Amino acid sequence: MIKTVLVTGGAGYIGSHTTLALLLAGFNVVVLDNLCNASPESLRRVAQLSDREPVFEKGDIRDRALLDKLLAQHPVQAVLHFAGLKSVGESVAYPLRYYDNNVGGTVTLCQAMAAAGVFTLVFSSSATVYGDPATVPITEDQPAGHTTNPYGRSKFMVEQLLGDLAASDPRWRVALLRYFNPVGAHESGLIGEDPHGIPNNLLPYITQVAVGKLPELAVFGNDYQTIDGTGVRDYIHVVDLAQGHLAALKELLTRTGTHVWNLGTGQGYSVLQVVQAFKAASGQPIPYRTVPRRPGDIAACYADPAKAAAELGWSAKRDLFTMMSDSWRWQKMNPDGYRSGND
Ligand code: NAD
Ligand code: UDP
Repeated sequence: MIKTVLVTGGAGYIGSHTTLALLLAGFNVVVLDNLCNASPESLRRVAQLSDREPVFEKGDIRDRALLDKLLAQHPVQAVLHFAGLKSVGESVAYPLRYYDNNVGGTVTLCQAMAAAGVFTLVFSSSATVYGDPATVPITEDQPAGHTTNPYGRSKFMVEQLLGDLAASDPRWRVALLRYFNPVGAHESGLIGEDPHGIPNNLLPYITQVAVGKLPELAVFGNDYQTIDGTGVRDYIHVVDLAQGHLAALKELLTRTGTHVWNLGTGQGYSVLQVVQAFKAASGQPIPYRTVPRRPGDIAACYADPAKAAAELGWSAKRDLFTMMSDSWRWQKMNPDGYRSGND
């Protein structure tokens, strides 16, 4: 039985929802986050929702002494590793930041784990490692590694280094979770995605148009070979994604080595379908205009989630309408994210 877990990046978007799910499931949670892209307010609200307090340490996964201290202080049996940088554009401009944080940070984390005798790790990978997939839906055995930017390469490098590590020492139990497109927020509207500046991703962009912070959505291309010419993605509710981590953690009790699971719904939606669904869920029209394709974008990307269903007993439950209404509730209740302070 695993009782105590370390969650790196636990104050962030997916990490905070997973911390909540872990606390509600009875785990003791230690969060390590340097707050470079998060607010401690997220964890205060997680405590409010769960009626339990995670331990919070503000610090960096590249700080070996701090990791050693945390792993000595707390009886950690597994690590869920969310900490990292995730902006594709920034990774092109500042690749070393991404290799240092995402790859270097994971090396330091694994060194500290091994020294402390902790060998169970759940890693936040991404469907970006599939690059432009030859076919959809994407199964885990499709070739990975043809990534188009330093962010994607950093994710793939970490997958490979974790594979090498597990091959070198049979005590390691590693889950590589390839997320598709996480969206939505906890149904309370208290925790959600809080991007700094102008959002890069579709959903936060739409909700900021809806709330009047941005004038209109730019739809990146309408000439793809898809249902209506706009890009198709597999949007997955962040609460379903969080549950996928608990399922993976449980499954790792029964296996050693490295294991890859897609976490997606298996259903692809176009940009215009998402815009329509958001309007239906929120009652807000989303003014948009079509602009040229965004460099590096692909036409369609959606998961075959059968392996996770069969092996983890997990599948996504929440539909697109729920994803939209939960995103909208979070945005309405927190127009300036965690800086709104109106919970
Ligand atoms: P996020 O930015 O909200 O969360 C990441 C957290 O890690 C933040 O709280 C940040 O402050 C923290 N962090 C960053 N570098 C750190 C460091 N060196 N030491 C300690 N803390 C650090 O992002 P998210 O959307 O919650 O993503 C979580 C993970 O999932 C990331 O690894 C990301 O690459 C991966 N992922 C995200 C998506 C997505 O679309 N959101 C898709 C696929 C994979
Ligand atoms: N997209 C868009 N306008 C935006 C942001 C995204 O049309 O302002 C499109 C994008 O081209 C893609 C889809 O929405 O087809 C999802 O993009 P996102 O950046 O959220 O995720 P990713 O590209 O990483 O899958």
